[in-house]
Amino acid sequence: MKVALKPCPFCGGEAVALVTRPGDVGCDECGSFAALSTWNRRVVDPALATFAATLKHAEARAEKAEAALRELAELDCVYGDECPGLRSNPRHGPCVGCRARAALAPTTTEGGAK
Ligand SMILES: [Zn+2]
Ligand SMILES: [Zn+2]
Repeated sequence: MKVALKPCPFCGGEAVALVTRPGDVGCDECGSFAALSTWNRRVVDPALATFAATLKHAEARAEKAEAALRELAELDCVYGDECPGLRSNPRHGPCVGCRARAALAPTTTEGGAK
């Protein structure tokens, strides 16, 4: 009979029976493990699990977005060295490459980094 495994109490990840450690259960996501009896007695806060899943999702999305940005940042500036739009003509805005470079550059001028 198969015992239903509770999700990981740390990250909400799926628990799997460890082949390398018989009787132990581990988490695929974060690598934590415990004996089966201990594992299923752990209290999982559903809110925490939801939060962890949401966070992971957001992280994956941010990583994807940054990868896309990095690709765009490889593009040459269509204006030459520097977009006039960066300073003098904000309405037209910089070209895609310059915008990506600006987004990747660490900003210290923007307040309220929350
Ligand atoms: Zn985990
Ligand atoms: Zn440009």
